[in-house]
Formats: sequence, structure tokens, C-alpha cells
Amino acid sequence: MQAEILMIGTELLLGQIQDTNATWMAQTLAAHGIPLYQKTTVGDNPERIRAALEDGLRRAGAVLCSGGLGPTEDDITRECVAAVFGRPLVYHPDLFEGIRARFAHLRANITENNKRQAMLPEGAVALDNPHGTAPGILVDDPRGVVACMPGVPWELKPMMESHVIPFLRTKFGVSGVLCYRVLKVCAMGESRVDSLIGDLILGSSNPTVGLLASPDAVRIRIAARATSVAEAETLIAPVEAAIRDRLPGLIMGVNDETLESVVDRLLAERGWTIATAESVTGGALAERLTAAGARQFVGGRVYPPGGDLVASGGGDAALDAARRILVEFGSDCAFVLLGGPAAKETQVAFISPEASASWFIGLYPDSALGRVRTVVAALEQVRRRLAGCNERP
Ligand code: ATP
Ligand code: MG
Repeated sequence: MQAEILMIGTELLLGQIQDTNATWMAQTLAAHGIPLYQKTTVGDNPERIRAALEDGLRRAGAVLCSGGLGPTEDDITRECVAAVFGRPLVYHPDLFEGIRARFAHLRANITENNKRQAMLPEGAVALDNPHGTAPGILVDDPRGVVACMPGVPWELKPMMESHVIPFLRTKFGVSGVLCYRVLKVCAMGESRVDSLIGDLILGSSNPTVGLLASPDAVRIRIAARATSVAEAETLIAPVEAAIRDRLPGLIMGVNDETLESVVDRLLAERGWTIATAESVTGGALAERLTAAGARQFVGGRVYPPGGDLVASGGGDAALDAARRILVEFGSDCAFVLLGGPAAKETQVAFISPEASASWFIGLYPDSALGRVRTVVAALEQVRRRLAGCNERP
């Protein structure tokens, strides 16, 4: 059994919105053991949507579509599916009642064109959409399965997970799973990680081990195929242990964990709060802590590069700033990132109830990416201190 993904929308085709659904759908199919054959993107054009559906049905047992289920003129997925299967569109009063109830709940006015969303190709099944108005559409035809889901990501995801995937697995007797575990290493280059675990990558089959670099972490992905999640986890465990052995204390976190959330957790375990000051990163440090929902973060100051903080003269400028921040915010810890246009390095200071230290890290380019790298390099050192790891990046 093979599936294809068909993304529908002119905005997607022209790159005006980023196609996150296709990535997520591909990962979700893989995770549930459904092989993916091809991904296609078409604009809101009836001939081309119909042709793409026909092509998909020729190659694969199931075509999963995203987008074009809305009430407006350019939302034409349902008409195209009906045409391809030669089935008339049938109006379902019960579906319209559901849509009407949802509008009433949101105190919004329903319009005549919302009726289109209650139309399904004859014999199709409506897929419940608890997060939006348009139900999804599932057609199970001798020529193949077509599932149409909304383009809005938070509508599509639950629909695919709770309806489409279980339907396909049952229909095509798919029983395998593909499970991942991602180990993240921060402030260390991909090549260095590769030099430490390269042999584990080369020799790997099931599970396979792969490396993926991004500005904030190197991801080590362990992927196992098995008949159950439990069996996959049993395959993954010894490989994870071997990797952790090679990188003692250097695995920052796993799967969706972020550096900020891990530092926050380590602080919370000690009951410590943290305040920040930064003069090189324009608030990127405070922004990342905020985005991670860090509860131990009580406040921070942002200075322009080379501003007041740097000019304190003599002594240890970063430590001085950290002491001031500690008093100002009444926090247990202070974390400072200092630098300026003339600086050759970025100075970092960290004060906790147990120790205070300042040190230098390299200077990254003055760009959004450079600011991310600066924050990650400095924060990873704080994490290693809190985690009792002696290795310095
Ligand atoms: P609606 O009822 O909102 O019109 P729809 O099923 O017709 O839903 P689209 O009109 O194709 O879906 O897309 C609606 C919005 O969903 C887009 O403006 C975009 O913000 C988001 N979206 C659509 N497709 C994708 C995608 N592939 N990846 C990420 N976001 C998407
Ligand atoms: Mg739409």
C-alpha cells in the first residue's frame, strides 16, 4: 500500500505561505508505517486539481489532500473530487446543522456559501472537524481512497490522526510503526558530533542513526521500525545508551525539549529564579526564555550593543552587571551576555547561590542567526554547569 500527498492552494504553490502541513503529513504517515510515494502541490485550478487526483490514484492506493475545503469560490476541492469519481455532490442537512451550531456558538453570521461545506460526493464519509467548520471528506472507491482535509493546520492534524490514519491502517492491513527518538546536542558542531559517534551512524540499520544540524542544536535521530511502539523503544534504548556513553553530559535534551525549557527545569529543581541582561543579542535571550514558557525567568534588561554595560570600565564588566541584575530583580541567579561593536568576544557571566563565574565565548555574526548562536552557546554553558557536566563548549 502506498499513499500520496496532494497540497492544494495557489498560496502554497507560489510560496506565499510555508507548507508545514506537507512536512507534518509525511512524518505522520512514516510514523504509522504508511509508505509515501509522492508529494504534489497544485494551485486552486480545477483542471489541474482533477489531473493531480487522477495521477495520484493511478500511482497510489490513497491520496491525502490538504486545503480548499472552505466556503469561498476558490475552495474547489470537493467539486474536483466529485468530478474525478463521477459522483454528484449531495447536500447533507445534518452537516449543515452542525455548521450552523458552530457559527451560533461563535456568534458569527452564517452565509449562504457555507451550505457548500455541507455537500459531499455521493457515498463519501464526512470527517469530524471539532476545530473548524468544514468537515473533511473521505471517499473509499475501487480506484482508491481520497481523503480531503482542511488547510488550517490545527484542523488538519487531529482529523488525520484520529480518522484518516486509522482508516488507512485498517483498510490496507498496515501494522508496522516507525518510531523516532531525537537526542539534541547544543553548542557543538555537527562534524565534532560525527567524529564521536560516526561509527554508530555508519553501521546502523534498524534502528538507523542520523545527524541533522540546525542553528540551535545538532539532532541525533534514532529511528526504528517495529510491529509496536514498545518493540521500537526496545530497539532504540541500547543505541541511545551507546550514544550517551560517547557524549557524557552533552545530550541537552530529547525530542521536543528546548535548551531554554531544560535550563528552566534544572533551575526549578533547585528552586532558583533567574534574571538576565544582554547587550549583544537584542532581547533574543529573554525572547527564547519567554517562548519556552520558562517559569523561573523573572525579568531581564536589554541594552544596545556596546551600551552602558560595557562601559563600566575596569573590573569584570559582566560580573558587575550580573550583580546589579540580581539586586534589581531579586532573583537567585543572574545571566549576562555582554559585547559591543568593538568587542572581539562576547563576555558571559552567571551567578547562582552556589557559584559565580564569567568567561568569554566566540563572537558570532551580527545577524538573527548569529544572535541565536550566541544565546545557545552561552545558555548551553549554563546548562552544563547546572547539570554538573565539566565539559566546556
Ligand atoms: P478555510 O475554511 O480556512 O478556507 P481551507 O480548507 O479552504 O480552509 P485553505 O483555504 O487552503 O484551507 O487554507 C486556509 C489557511 O490555512 C491558509 O491561509 C494558511 O494559513 C493555512 N494553510 C493552508 N495550507 C497550509 C499548509 N499546507 N501548511 C500550512 N498552513 C496552511
Ligand atoms: Mg480556503
